[in-house]
Amino acid sequence: MLITKAPKGVGEVLPQDSYRWQAIEDCMRETCRRFGFREVRVPTFEHTELFLRGVGGTTDIVQKEMYTFEDKGGRSITLKPEGTAGVARTFVEKGLANLPMPVKMYYLYSPVFRYEQPQAGRLREHHQFGVEVFGAEQPSMDAEVILLALRVIESLGIHGLEVHLNSIGCPKCRPAYMDKLRAYFGEHRETLCPTCQGRLERNPLRIFDCKSEICQGVVAGAPSVQEALCEECQAHFTALQGYLRDTGVTYRVNPRLVRGLDYYTRTVFEIIAPQIGAQSTVCGGGRYDRLIEEIGGAATPGIGFGMGMERLLIALEKYGDMPMEEPPLLDVYLAPMGEVAKEKAFSLAQDLRSAGLAVDTDHMGRSLKAQFKYADKTGCRFVGVLGDNELAEGVLHVKDMKTSQECNIPLAEAAAFFRGALEE
Ligand code: ATP
Ligand code: MG
Repeated sequence: MLITKAPKGVGEVLPQDSYRWQAIEDCMRETCRRFGFREVRVPTFEHTELFLRGVGGTTDIVQKEMYTFEDKGGRSITLKPEGTAGVARTFVEKGLANLPMPVKMYYLYSPVFRYEQPQAGRLREHHQFGVEVFGAEQPSMDAEVILLALRVIESLGIHGLEVHLNSIGCPKCRPAYMDKLRAYFGEHRETLCPTCQGRLERNPLRIFDCKSEICQGVVAGAPSVQEALCEECQAHFTALQGYLRDTGVTYRVNPRLVRGLDYYTRTVFEIIAPQIGAQSTVCGGGRYDRLIEEIGGAATPGIGFGMGMERLLIALEKYGDMPMEEPPLLDVYLAPMGEVAKEKAFSLAQDLRSAGLAVDTDHMGRSLKAQFKYADKTGCRFVGVLGDNELAEGVLHVKDMKTSQECNIPLAEAAAFFRGALEE
């Protein structure tokens, strides 16, 4: 039955689990606030051309993974396969360069679509938390972006993640390095997988990212980009490492680290949770100083990252040490007995909500006993019973579910009573 079966590779957040996501999102918002970032929300789909230019034709994403379709107006539309290109498009189209620079933005729970083989940690629709900074060229900005990602992870109580760092040069030094790579991989052409043979001419750097073990064997002997960096790129990379060391970040320089997108320059990094299995990269990012120009804006440096929220949750469950418990759904449950009491409970619920309390009452016609049972399941602190006697006296019979104490409270004082008791 297709109707009651979700498509392959999608995740969903069930109501009993959403508090986890909210806790993670709160943490991300708070960290971004501390770093002076503002939220940006961009569309879920864009013109396909944006991703061809802004992600790059030699990437796996563009070659194999995009959800592309023609809309009813005959335009080619693509569901966002990553977060940066859309934000870059907004930056150019909406003239965000007029804001004070650097423009520091983040996005939360942003849906990302990739046609991949679904498996643990790999979905066809996943969600990313990410940041993008435009206008700042200095290496301190690179360090801040990495620190922001680490602070989010740490504040969730996740420890033991590894930061992998590399510089992949700039338009000045990269062409010579690419020639070297072409020469090296050319000698091993026959060994490479068909995809990598294609990459050889167009973008040999992409071979580093190949998942085939045979190609990885060839990659192991490739010339290191670290030795090919120009003076400026070298200085940038050294300064970045200085900032990281000064703030106590342990990292590993991995000269084989490249990134899945074509537009990266200089800094690239990944944050890896080694213990969560094959899909262990929680966060990936880097500098993309040429992206804005590439999509038609005025040359503007940029840096950012994307963090897979589903993978972060896996890491959190595997080795986070922050206890996560669902907060009680309700403060007060009003249990009426009889029709008149039901009407009174209904209106009292509205008053208590206006006073800031989380309140519910019966909509099922349950017996008092069944109502207590339901209230208990929601984890609420107080049950207020309203029957004929209570109505006659103008009171609510309150049971504190924590202490089992019971008392009568005048209806007019109910809000103040509950608020006071919950603040204690
Ligand atoms: P991978 O090498 O695992 O395919 P990637 O290099 O394609 O990752 P990025 O484009 O850097 O990934 O995306 C940023 C982050 O988004 C990743 O580090 C990961 O946490 C997450 N991510 C990427 N693809 C998926 C997916 N299919 N399902 C779930 N999370 C994903
Ligand atoms: Mg991928």
